[in-house]
Amino acid sequence: MSLLAALADRVLGARIPDDELPHPVPPGVVVRRSRLIPALGGVFMGGSRRPAGAVTLGHTILCNEGQTLTDDLLVHELVHVEQWEKDPLFALKYCAEWFRHGYRQNPYEQDAYARQREYAARKHQSVPPRPL
Ligand SMILES: [Zn+2]
Repeated sequence: MSLLAALADRVLGARIPDDELPHPVPPGVVVRRSRLIPALGGVFMGGSRRPAGAVTLGHTILCNEGQTLTDDLLVHELVHVEQWEKDPLFALKYCAEWFRHGYRQNPYEQDAYARQREYAARKHQSVPPRPL
């Protein structure tokens, strides 16, 4: 392990190997177990005393240590990865929307929750049985 990787593990939390993730992630996206940043995210952005389930910073998804990492949650966070990719000012705009609308009504969160729901609905659609 390089010094930089060791430092990232120490500061951001240990990386979850791709083959242990409940849903594939695009190349370059890293998922880590973290405590501090999801806790701060829950308090400041989520407006609750509970830590956020996960926080996405660029291509890094920081999953709260106490949170079960589900495919639904990962899909939600991957929407935030896309939002970071699409707009270099995403972080500022996200905060501006949060100030205007709060967490749940933040259009970036509404997009992420909508796509999470779409994913969950598709996943649970029953497949018709194959004709005999
Ligand atoms: Zn979100």
